[in-house]
Amino acid sequence: MLYQPLEAAYYDFEIARDPARCIQCRVCERQCSYGAHVFDEALGEVRSLSAKCVGCHRCEAFCPTGAIRIQRHESDFRDNALWSPQYLKNIYKQGSTGGVLLTGMGNSQPYPVYWDHMLLDASQVTNPSIDPLREPMELRTFLGCKPDALQFDEGGRLITRLTPQIPIAYPILFSGMSYGSINLRVHQGLARAAKELGILYNTGEGGLHASLWDYGANTIVQVASGRFGVHAGYLKVARAIEIKVGQGAKPGIGGHLPGEKVSAQISVTRMIPEGTDALSPAPHHDIYSIEDLRQLIYALKEASDYQVPVSVKIAAVHNSAAIASGMVRAGADIIVLDGFRGGTGAAPTMIRDNVGIPIELALAAVDERLRQEGIRNQVSVLAAGGIRCSADVVKAIALGADACYIATAALISLGCTVCQRCYTGKCPWGIATNDPYLSKRINPEIAAERLTNLVRAWGHEIAEMMGGMGINAIESLRGNREKLRGVGLNEIELDTLGIKAAGK
Ligand code: SF4
Ligand code: SF4
Repeated sequence: MLYQPLEAAYYDFEIARDPARCIQCRVCERQCSYGAHVFDEALGEVRSLSAKCVGCHRCEAFCPTGAIRIQRHESDFRDNALWSPQYLKNIYKQGSTGGVLLTGMGNSQPYPVYWDHMLLDASQVTNPSIDPLREPMELRTFLGCKPDALQFDEGGRLITRLTPQIPIAYPILFSGMSYGSINLRVHQGLARAAKELGILYNTGEGGLHASLWDYGANTIVQVASGRFGVHAGYLKVARAIEIKVGQGAKPGIGGHLPGEKVSAQISVTRMIPEGTDALSPAPHHDIYSIEDLRQLIYALKEASDYQVPVSVKIAAVHNSAAIASGMVRAGADIIVLDGFRGGTGAAPTMIRDNVGIPIELALAAVDERLRQEGIRNQVSVLAAGGIRCSADVVKAIALGADACYIATAALISLGCTVCQRCYTGKCPWGIATNDPYLSKRINPEIAAERLTNLVRAWGHEIAEMMGGMGINAIESLRGNREKLRGVGLNEIELDTLGIKAAGK
């Protein structure tokens, strides 16, 4: 008989508290939603329960005297190239619980990060660089199906019928995160920031809270397999509609918001009974072919009076290029490719870490295929899943994207430390939680300001990188792979990415 669960013995983090600095203010105790700090009445001091620490660093950030350091706690198991401590700990946990291992956020395994193996060009003598402080730089781009050519009548009037286009001031959008997986205050911050920036945020699959309808012009509403919160008004208020077929963090499986997180407000918005589990089926039960997808795309266009583009989001998987081709032919105006580093509120660990492919490879393959088939202009391509910085955005656009979705980066700007415990509903930073006490840690106005600052900062950096390459418009960067070179990549990887090796 074991004295305690083994997974509790081999815990991940050690709370180091400096007694010389600690003033026993108990801030850490109040900030920790996992009970890793407790006040010992008998001793009159705060004690650490390191086994409960999830590595969120909230206490470290809020300790007024800098008395806390969160450190790795690694038991030195015997070296074994196969049986690393992570596998042992997972098996101990499953031996205790009999359950599926859950996690949050995106794939954290050490697969190659191709962004870090691509370098950007810079102008030197010929084709001089452009100074973005003195010259106009066009970061604005338009999302939607473009005609291959424009036709004008004898009077010079445009006679080509244009499908709906969405101008976005930066090539960056906030990706889908559902109301329920994150709370209303975060959605309010995202909506306000999107309006301020002239970009779009995405509701995710949890519907649109009534208080956010005023932000419809900056909102992409999602239609996922569970159809939560989908009704005629929801489709008409939005600037774009996104059919979520797949998600990078958990390709091929559905979603699950536990009943305890389905509060009264969430139940109204999702249009499901309060306290019931919100289960999204793995497939859309009306999509079993490209023809079925086409029917849904046109049903949504019809429902929105053909006033907004319809987007289709898939996870980046082995045959993304062929799937994307089918999506374009089915009438999608925008396609979203979500790479395996894409975040989530909850996913089975084995799915998250072993299913899907990197966004860089999927994006390059899709752009190439659509160009070969002569249908690239019929669709805008959005890259998502692990976009960490402005350089990733520039590289993604040079690989073929029109713009990038960010989500994890947006949450990090609000304090998220990627502790991967979103699925517990106890996010100490007040983000992935609907707990009224924890949610108040997010002030929507401050959140909007931080998100706005983040995108503006990236915008400045994107303009600088473009200027350095002698490019003054995002449209000229799109698919311009000549501006990329690979380092540390083999021939097959270079070929898939469609770029030359550095030095060539
Ligand atoms: S927050 Fe810092 S100073 Fe306050 S009790 Fe905790 S460790 Fe001590
Ligand atoms: S949202 Fe919260 S729970 Fe999720 S990774 Fe970030 S800090 Fe952790």
